[in-house]
Formats: sequence, structure tokens, C-alpha cells
Amino acid sequence: MYYLLSFLIASLFIGCQPTSTQTDGHKLNVLVTTTLIADLVTHIGQDRIEVKALMGPDVDPHLYKPSALYLNKIKKADIIFFHGLHLEGRMTDLFDQWQAQGQAAYAITQDIPRDKLLYSAESSTQADPHVWFDPQLWSICLDTVATILSAKDPQQADFYQANKETMRIAYHHLDAWMKQQAQRLPQQKRILITSHDAFNYFGRAYDFQVIGVQGISTVTQAGLADITQTIDFIKQQKIPSIFVETSVSESVIKRIAEDSGCRIGGHLYSDALAALGTIEHTPSAEGYDVGTYTGMMQYNMSTIVHALSNSYIDI
Ligand SMILES: [Zn+2]
Repeated sequence: MYYLLSFLIASLFIGCQPTSTQTDGHKLNVLVTTTLIADLVTHIGQDRIEVKALMGPDVDPHLYKPSALYLNKIKKADIIFFHGLHLEGRMTDLFDQWQAQGQAAYAITQDIPRDKLLYSAESSTQADPHVWFDPQLWSICLDTVATILSAKDPQQADFYQANKETMRIAYHHLDAWMKQQAQRLPQQKRILITSHDAFNYFGRAYDFQVIGVQGISTVTQAGLADITQTIDFIKQQKIPSIFVETSVSESVIKRIAEDSGCRIGGHLYSDALAALGTIEHTPSAEGYDVGTYTGMMQYNMSTIVHALSNSYIDI
């Protein structure tokens, strides 16, 4: 399965190269908020669109607010894709404003059926936005983007739809590979502790119990009670490793690791990709491009499976 996936991803990469058959000079200017959306939209539009992301690699979308300089780029965009579900918590008013002004701004999560979303214990109305951690849900966003691009640029509709289909198959293979990797861990070892609650969809898709010390958003800090509770839980359950996230401060996780005696199992990519072409090696010596969605997912899963396979060292 790994080789098939590598082949598919390699084929996709080749598919991203500019083609010599392109004759139309005008490319759609597409502005996106996050690196994850940039990855998805670029795979569908390839060389027929110009994609610009407001947030760079490793930027936390919960805290991001664009500067006045970036707001100028928004006026030039033919289409804006944002994530929605309050992921970009400090930009929500801006999205409403753009839509009210008639700007073509869309939430890529708009077509995910509400009953497939997860809700936190604190709120039954505010859905957890981290849907990309379930490739089946991220596939629904492919449909949304392909439909919107096709409506805006009907001459290229077949191209966008064909690319969407290729990506749908790639995500399906990714999902199967992720399931296979998760099953290498016995059920009782599938407990994932990270800085903030980004991994609930991952937990549902791959059968992990997930604990995010900070809750759904990074806006609120972890309280002392959360930290103490997590330390006790690690000791009771003899959890060997917990994880830091690249877009979130690691101080709380470091403190919990020191006080509970467990290891830091590695850094996971949660809410942002790295720069395209950043290769991360896992302990099993596989290298993944964590600047891509599929590479990030594989790197995270390999890191988690390896670190949770270890034994707990009692202090
Ligand atoms: Zn998050």
C-alpha cells in the first residue's frame, strides 16, 4: 500500500508541473487563508490558477489576523477560499464583510453535512473545525472547490473535475494507509495527547482516544487543573509519549512530560503545513514532504505509531 500511495503522490507531483498546452493567458487569482487550503486548491487548479495564501507555513490560524497590506490582495482576488467553522477565529467578521460586499468568498467546509461534524463538550453549536484530519471529510471539500472553480471558469471545468477525481482517489488511498498504520498499535495504546484539541477527527477516523490540553482553540491557555489532570492520567494509563505541535507553543507539553515522566514523542503538524519541500524523516527512516497534506498526514501517523509503541518509564 505504501508503494501505491507513493506512486500516486509522485504522479500528482508530476501533474502539478506547468503544461505546454496552456494557451489562455488569464489565470484565476485565488486567495486562500491557510496552507492546507492552498495545497487542496492547487491540486485542483494546478497551472490554470494563481494561488496565494494569507498565512505562511507553521502559522496558527486561530490567532491570525491579516495586516492592512494583505487586505489589498483581497481586492485583487477572483475567488477567496477560507476554511470556515471559526478556524480563522479572528477573521470571521472580515469574511462576513467580504460576502456582504459581493466578493466571491467561500468556506471550503460549507458542504460537509452537519451530522458528520464533531462538537466539543463546551459547545453544542460550535463545530470542531479540524476536519482535514479525516481524509473522507477533506474529500468533500475537494468537491466544493472543484464546483466553485468550474462555475467561475467553465472552459476549464473538465480539467478541474478530472483533477478532483484524481485527488479523491489519492485521499481514499491515504485513508486506507492511515487505518492500516493505526492498527499496528493495540487498542489500549491508542491514546494521543497533544497541546490543543486538533486531533478529534483523527481520533474518530483511526480509533484513538484524544486529549488536547488547551481545548479546541489556542486562544485560551491551559489551566493548572487541566495540566494536573493530564499528568495524573498519563501516570495511571502509563502513556509512553505525548506530542508537541508545530504551530502551538510547546511549553505546556514540555512541563507535563517533565512532571509525568513520559517522553515527548515528536512534533506533529496540526493546523499548518511546513514550507513545500520540507522533508521530515520518521524513526522508520521514511521521508515525507510535510509541506503537502498527504505527506503531513503520513508523517504524523508514523510519528504517533512509533512513539506510542514504546514502553512507559516510571519515575
Ligand atoms: Zn486548531
